[in-house]
Amino acid sequence: MKKIQIIEASKHVGEKVRIGAWIANKRSSGKIAFLNLRDGSAFFQGVVVKSEVSEEVFQTAKNITQESSVWVEGTIQEDTRSKFGYEIHVDSLEVIGESVDYPITPKEHGTEFLMDNRHLWLRSSKQHAVMQVRNEIIRATYEFYNKEGFTKIDPPILTGSAAENTTELFHTEYFDRDAFLSQSGQLYMEAGAMALGKVFSFGPTFRAEKSKTRRHLIEFWMIEPEMAFMDQDDSLEIQEKYVAYLVQSVLDNCDHALDVLERDKDLLRKYTSLPYPRISYDEAIELLNKNDFDVTWGEDFGSPEETFIAEQFDKPVFILNYPKAIKPFYMKPHPTREDIVLCADLIAPEGYGEIIGGSQREDDYDALRKQLEAFDLDVSEYEWYLDLRKYGSVPHSGFGLGLERTVTWISGTEHIREAIPFPRLLNRIYP
Ligand code: ATP
Ligand code: MG
Ligand code: MG
Ligand code: MG
Repeated sequence: MKKIQIIEASKHVGEKVRIGAWIANKRSSGKIAFLNLRDGSAFFQGVVVKSEVSEEVFQTAKNITQESSVWVEGTIQEDTRSKFGYEIHVDSLEVIGESVDYPITPKEHGTEFLMDNRHLWLRSSKQHAVMQVRNEIIRATYEFYNKEGFTKIDPPILTGSAAENTTELFHTEYFDRDAFLSQSGQLYMEAGAMALGKVFSFGPTFRAEKSKTRRHLIEFWMIEPEMAFMDQDDSLEIQEKYVAYLVQSVLDNCDHALDVLERDKDLLRKYTSLPYPRISYDEAIELLNKNDFDVTWGEDFGSPEETFIAEQFDKPVFILNYPKAIKPFYMKPHPTREDIVLCADLIAPEGYGEIIGGSQREDDYDALRKQLEAFDLDVSEYEWYLDLRKYGSVPHSGFGLGLERTVTWISGTEHIREAIPFPRLLNRIYP
């Protein structure tokens, strides 16, 4: 008998198949048992009719406990009443592994309990749907950058010096010297761009974020494209095209998951139309202060400010040209204004906050050297990085998109902890 995954059900209607599955739930009467099964690919129904199976099979179906694993054999049928659309009419049911007193029912338990049981919580239909969206975003990312002619390269995760903000660095030992876990691969990606033109990386990022917010993880995944011969405007064009591509891919390939998540698809469709609006940091300050915020020029925006700005638009919005003083040393100053840099943050709608941070990089040797000194960084550790400006420097730009921020937003999930299988948070490194 053919062993299948239920996700391929449409190809096997009317056929007898064998499926390995778990019992998500069940209900039964004297004559019929309905098993809510999950085989990892989807949730589906198994129907066991007493008069059509052996007494032993019916008793197994009646008594089986939540999350026991089973081999199910039967015929695939269309089932227009269910969301999934197919069910299996069961002939035989064989228990593989019993499950006794399964501890969690996501709707009934609080977050801490669910987080303690994250290894089991992942089995629930909502978490399954979020992981499908995450997977689609990963898949679409590789597809997009391949289509656009980028080469994927992998910057190191163990680094000898801080790329950006020293307060958020994880420190470790590297034989007889210090090392740090990567907070961003950007500087290496710039070297990659000078070698390969257009490159992207997709890897883990570590930040010792001391604040507890619903947007920050300690360990998250970041996609970092870097492009030679591209200025800030070219970069914004790629960024919006990429984000719209991700949303469209999820709409195209995760229809069922979006239903499970009760995500508003009409809203998502709006996010696929380009271009995205752009406002400058200066305009943002003015807008905020006209609306009872109290922000001074030179401050960074927090979540309330970003959310308010995003609410003024029906799509993600770029905030351009932040003050130089609150951005990292490698950003290129605006050509006519020394106090602002050629950078942009892309803010997601609906209060999901910043999903991309990017900039045009300083490509002038002397200016970059001065910046390193101004930031009190040890220039000797950046000689290799300065070399990129010594040997055929070109205008170049890049950005970083946070995978879990994007998953949280597109799936419409409340908190970023559900956008990664095993979240690392300020107070949690278990399980
Ligand atoms: P924020 O202002 O939200 O703290 P950031 O400006 O520090 O973000 P960047 O250094 O610009 O972040 O990193 C690029 C992207 O990585 C961000 O736009 C965001 O999508 C993601 N990101 C940053 N920090 C985190 C985090 N702690 N957890 C999850 N994603 C993050
Ligand atoms: Mg931050
Ligand atoms: Mg930021
Ligand atoms: Mg940023």
